[in-house]
Amino acid sequence: MLNIAIDGPSGAGKSTISKMLAKKLGILYLDTGAMYRAVALYVHRKGIDPNDTKNVIPLLGEIQIEFRGEGDDKKIYLNGEDVSSAIREHHISKMASDVSKIKEVRLFLVEQQRAIAAKNDIVLDGRDITSFVLPDSKYKFYLTATAEERARRRFEELKAKGSDISYEKILADVNDRDYNDTHRDFAPLVKTEDSVLIDSTNLNTDEVIEVILRYVNTH
Ligand code: C5P
Repeated sequence: MLNIAIDGPSGAGKSTISKMLAKKLGILYLDTGAMYRAVALYVHRKGIDPNDTKNVIPLLGEIQIEFRGEGDDKKIYLNGEDVSSAIREHHISKMASDVSKIKEVRLFLVEQQRAIAAKNDIVLDGRDITSFVLPDSKYKFYLTATAEERARRRFEELKAKGSDISYEKILADVNDRDYNDTHRDFAPLVKTEDSVLIDSTNLNTDEVIEVILRYVNTH
């Protein structure tokens, strides 16, 4: 199977790039971050603190995550409910980062991610795809950009949607999540030695895709 693994910090453009790359190659795309977000949403709705490991773990048995549809119409379902918009709410981002620290949560989702990757030609993006989910994948990329540039992009995106959240708050959140993701004990975000580093601070989406495609076509 053709598995392309893309990791990197929040806001580096991984999902946009991965989605477009998958479309160009005519293969599937798996947004693993959406799965952590769906778990966070479920935990939040149950009134449980995402850091409350002891009470989060038993909830995993009640969670069923599914993707339906293809391309731009792809939706994520939590126990049969379309939660594609709900998981994108700002407060869910930090909660996703919190639940993702729990080893049992990670193993619960990683098992599903590996099963999907074993059966499909697919692009997966996340934080631990190159290091833990698919360490033997032939194509591994680490996509990053400066925290300021990632916050600026997120700020523009939210402003366009009518949000009045400040750039400073977004930058603080970006730094917070970076810290969380790189400092957790189990499967933290790292750039593995064999991943191709792409710094997108000064590259647009098309340019990043070109770098990836050139690599895939020549290796
Ligand atoms: O990619 P996205 O920002 O949607 O991911 C939400 C959160 O889920 C991240 O901040 C990260 O903490 C967590 N995550 C993870 N491992 C992945 C994908 C996401 O820990 N493979």
